[in-house]
Amino acid sequence: MTNTTQPGTALITGASSGIGAIYADRLARRGYDLVLVARNRERLETLAQRLTDETGRSVEIVTADLGAEADVHRIETLLRTDASITTLVNNAGVGAVAPLLASDVDKMQSMIELNVVALTRLTYAAVPGMVERGTGTIINIASVVAISPELLNGVYGASKAFVLALTRSLKHELADKGVRVQAVLPGATRTEFWDVAGQPADNLPQDWVMSADDMVDAALAGLDQGEVFTVPSLPDVADWNAYESARTALFPNLSRSAPAARFGVGA
Ligand code: NAP
Repeated sequence: MTNTTQPGTALITGASSGIGAIYADRLARRGYDLVLVARNRERLETLAQRLTDETGRSVEIVTADLGAEADVHRIETLLRTDASITTLVNNAGVGAVAPLLASDVDKMQSMIELNVVALTRLTYAAVPGMVERGTGTIINIASVVAISPELLNGVYGASKAFVLALTRSLKHELADKGVRVQAVLPGATRTEFWDVAGQPADNLPQDWVMSADDMVDAALAGLDQGEVFTVPSLPDVADWNAYESARTALFPNLSRSAPAARFGVGA
């Protein structure tokens, strides 16, 4: 049954810094209790204490390395068994700026394990209970590189294209089951992401870079407005809708018994 007065608990991955920490702040102020997940216990504790003091919400912290199978399984169990969790923010992620051929393939695999595998497993753990309860929200933090992989490291872009495609598919499958889904596609956002990726945000053209506060506030406004895909910096949503229309216009011809005439093959 939907409880209209209590929003329930939001589990946020990668909540120890940057975008995830701002989601924690904003959702606590919206009345959510929180489960904050990341590796850095000290940072999680400091944030949890501040949010409890300022909002009075209950804030639980769970340290986990979402690149490690056993830790992912622990969070999956939490999502499956705690029916108070109404919202999952799949935010933990890492990027890279090095071109494909200059990147270490083991690092690329670790990125896929965090950005793709952990996000998928946590989504699989959360969704069945939400469907059963007829309510819930999944917010997946993708990136604009999901549709422009040429801008940064290609594996990073591909990992975010996965997040976008998965969210699209969840939207399709969950439309009539009471579960809201949203893919957020931030452009460059001022966080430690850029230091970890090897290119501090200060080195970017400053008119590209949004604050994490503005990014999250815009994304939550997009969620409130019912957007499934939110690009916080995109001035005109008609541009996104045109992109979607061009994509769906391909559907009738994506699978046919005969090759296209321009190839000059077939009967
Ligand atoms: P950030 O400040 O570096 O935050 C990344 C978060 O992920 C941290 O809380 C970090 O916490 C956590 N994390 C990293 N590795 C982890 C692991 N193995 N297990 C568990 N948690 C892990 O960067 P951010 O910009 O806020 O990034 C958040 C999301 O936004 C990412 O998915 C990123 O791809 C996406 N994004 C960022 C930008 C941007 O320009 N900043 C643009 C588009 C999309 P611990 O180190 O404590 O584990």
